[in-house]
Amino acid sequence: MYQIIRRINLGVDVHTALGVLTQGVVDVVGFQVAAISWLTDALDFEIVSVAGREDARAELMGTRVSLAEMEVELAASDQSGSLFFLPAGRLGEGVGGWIPDLSDVTRGPGQWEGEDTLRCLLSSPEGELLGVLSVDLPDDGMRPAAPRRELLEMYADLAGLALNQARRATALEERVRLSSAVQAALLSTEADHDLGSLVAACAPSFSSVLQASTFWVRIIDQQNPGHPGEMAGVPTGTVPAATAEILAHAAADARAAWDAGVVATAFLRHGRWVSSTSPWNETQERIRVVEGRAGWVRRSTSESNPVADEQTDLTEFLESIGVSRLLMCPVGVGPDCFGYFVACRDNESGWSAEELEAAARLGRHLGQAVLSVRLLERERVLVQQLKALDGYKNDLVSTVSHELRTPLTSVVGHLELIEDAMTAGAVVGSDAFEVVHRNLQRVLRLTDELLMLKRIDAAVGSEPGILDLRLVARDVVSSLQPQAKAQGVSLRLAPHGGPVLITGNGGELERVVLNLVDNAIKYTPAGGLVEVALERSARFVRLVVADSGMGISADDQEELFGEFFRSTNPSALALPGTGLGLSIVRRIVQRHGGSIRVTSAPGEGSTFTVRLPLSHTRDG
Ligand code: ADP
Repeated sequence: MYQIIRRINLGVDVHTALGVLTQGVVDVVGFQVAAISWLTDALDFEIVSVAGREDARAELMGTRVSLAEMEVELAASDQSGSLFFLPAGRLGEGVGGWIPDLSDVTRGPGQWEGEDTLRCLLSSPEGELLGVLSVDLPDDGMRPAAPRRELLEMYADLAGLALNQARRATALEERVRLSSAVQAALLSTEADHDLGSLVAACAPSFSSVLQASTFWVRIIDQQNPGHPGEMAGVPTGTVPAATAEILAHAAADARAAWDAGVVATAFLRHGRWVSSTSPWNETQERIRVVEGRAGWVRRSTSESNPVADEQTDLTEFLESIGVSRLLMCPVGVGPDCFGYFVACRDNESGWSAEELEAAARLGRHLGQAVLSVRLLERERVLVQQLKALDGYKNDLVSTVSHELRTPLTSVVGHLELIEDAMTAGAVVGSDAFEVVHRNLQRVLRLTDELLMLKRIDAAVGSEPGILDLRLVARDVVSSLQPQAKAQGVSLRLAPHGGPVLITGNGGELERVVLNLVDNAIKYTPAGGLVEVALERSARFVRLVVADSGMGISADDQEELFGEFFRSTNPSALALPGTGLGLSIVRRIVQRHGGSIRVTSAPGEGSTFTVRLPLSHTRDG
């Protein structure tokens, strides 16, 4: 006995300790069969050690009896201390277990009967029921009297200690394993700057913490919960192919779990999925066994519910990927749920309270990591915008100074010529004044366009009204007719039936037509043709400005609408311009809910088409 205590205290493997104890009961207390069962997490008594007769051993080892069944037997038994004796026949037929054939034994008072059952409870020092020691066939054929019972109880005490020790060691090992695995897993979420590599980096380590056979992690696209978003899986590269409904469903489940502060688990029981949710710090309650006469057992307070019928698509999906047990942990920070991870097992073992807590910790930590990646991303975008703004400002300053300098230099030069001529008493020709005038016009136009750009950006301007685009086009064409004529370009407005009413800012829309027609004339050599047309459909109008001019290369077309863009074509570049006209046009068109496109090829002319929504006044 001393040897046994010593071995238990030295932390010998629990199976060896229980083997020594059952053998001791057979050899020392004197029974032909002794069996120890322990209480599993699923609250079943599972026989894990049998000593004595080989036939009993073969039949009993590994068998299970539920706590409920055991309770029925214990309740019907006579109790003395931790011993429960159930005489043959008291529960009628059907008492399970191994029943020896004692038909040839002559019966007498106190004689052991084949269906007699003697059990001894194995408990922790706190009274928690951990297992049961059952004996059968006393060597002397008699129901045991007090001294034998006491000896049996001593063995049971030791077995209780061994089970308690083993359980504590397992829990400790589990905690140690989890805490170092969680630490390692948390490292995997650091130093990643985009969500894709973040989920890819954490999947394998999270999966190994939770000892999952299949694992996937998903960061939900909040705008589109039916879209996979960012996903990564283990084995690497495998994420289940789920439909948009399943994905949306899972996203909603994760959100609900996050709001409730729980990790959800589900498993297949008798072909049906049962789900439960456990608070992050799972609480367990003590359930009294046989009204407390047999001690108590721990039971998790998490609720178990059969998975609702409307979730059959979800359960079918899980079955299709061969999973029988899963855990879903939401990922988030504060009020925000960003996604979830799912760990699956294809075996029977469930998740311990420690594992659920570790999962929750991983979920919260990953949430932090997602948040910092998102903040970093936002910062990056902001920096890019600032850089673009800075470049824009630089472009603006250099273009504006260049565009102002050229005409003003010319103005100053010509004024000097005029001054010299006047000093010399010579007649000043009108040419010089014309040059001064033209150049000052250029300056005016540039400042005009800059002001326009600023106004559009600030979204200021007169209140929108209803205007007739046909009249706008007509006015613009007639005002540009002299310019076209001077350049030897013929400018035509295709006739259009009735008014074309659109809601918008008159000044801005006039600017659109003006810029497009002005460009068309400007970039068309003498002898060319510019045609302006309006095409109406049920809800839109198309303003088409086509010219037979120099055309625009495909590369230039891509950048055409950017601020300060001027063609790379030298003959276009030779003409005065600011590179602001088309960017102003595009902004105005977009502000009016429209779009603009260009079709062109070098040397073959260009066609600009603006599409604008018609005003709701349908009688236009
Ligand atoms: P700019 O003041 O230079 O005309 P825009 O923004 O109006 O500025 O036009 C940008 C560039 O697009 C022009 O420099 C010119 O090269 C090209 N472009 C615009 N319209 C036409 C056209 N109708 N035909 C050929 N090139 C054009």
